[in-house]
Amino acid sequence: MSEDRKVALVTGGSRGIGRACALELAKAGCDVVINYAGNEEAANKTVEELKALGSNAKAMKFDVANQELVEAAVKEIVDTYGKIDILVNNAGITRDGLFMRMNAQNWLDVINTNLNSAYYVTNPIAKIMIKQRSGAIVNMASISGIYGNAGQANYSTAKAGLIGMTKALAKELASRNIRVNAVAPGFIQTDMTKDLPQEQIVDKIPLKRLGEPEDIAKTVKFLALDATYITGQVIGVDGGLVI
Ligand code: NAP
Repeated sequence: MSEDRKVALVTGGSRGIGRACALELAKAGCDVVINYAGNEEAANKTVEELKALGSNAKAMKFDVANQELVEAAVKEIVDTYGKIDILVNNAGITRDGLFMRMNAQNWLDVINTNLNSAYYVTNPIAKIMIKQRSGAIVNMASISGIYGNAGQANYSTAKAGLIGMTKALAKELASRNIRVNAVAPGFIQTDMTKDLPQEQIVDKIPLKRLGEPEDIAKTVKFLALDATYITGQVIGVDGGLVI
């Protein structure tokens, strides 16, 4: 393993936005570990694409909401690669519905997968980055966590929590040369948004199109690798939807 190649973990890196982030980091010369929950076929396909870019890539199946599994996975990554330079906390789900009809399971599933997971994954990795005296963390928030979305109280809460975590950790970890930022995507074309009324949404977006996963990935790569004097920021990548 080459010492100067950076090692990145992208949670939920097998499909959608996470896949695009993994590919962008691989193009920039990183060895990328992607995580996924169940769709092995998509994960294997993405690993092949990463390898074709010269990345020493690997897919790891674990539920980011399960602390024990996350800790075992982080240990395995460090045993294999020797370090972790970049963490993209991207895995996420939606369980939309009006709050008055939202059952506790749908609330907890979204908070556990989208927010508590960031604690489980970041806590052991931050310890590694502190020892390394370097690192970059990018959290995948959402415009829902900034302006609140009717029908997404669980998701908006989780994403607002991620933004708070981003700012607090940026302050705690800056002295160890670790930067922590967040991206807040608008409506991006992935499996997560495929059933939404696209025409109605596009009408409200100043740039008059939905985003592509690559629009987010370029920003993640910028924050992870290029933005050496940026920490604690939330970058909206939403075609101008939230201005
Ligand atoms: P997606 O296409 O549904 O992909 C989700 C990815 O997360 C998949 O790789 C999935 O793995 C993985 N995943 C889901 N639950 C997991 C778990 N418990 N443990 C490990 N991995 C898990 O979603 P996306 O649209 O790319 O969204 C990615 C992130 O961007 C999410 O945090 C989402 O909230 C955020 N975001 C998306 C949009 C948008 O418009 N799409 C907007 C704002 C923010 P499997 O394939 O194995 O299930």
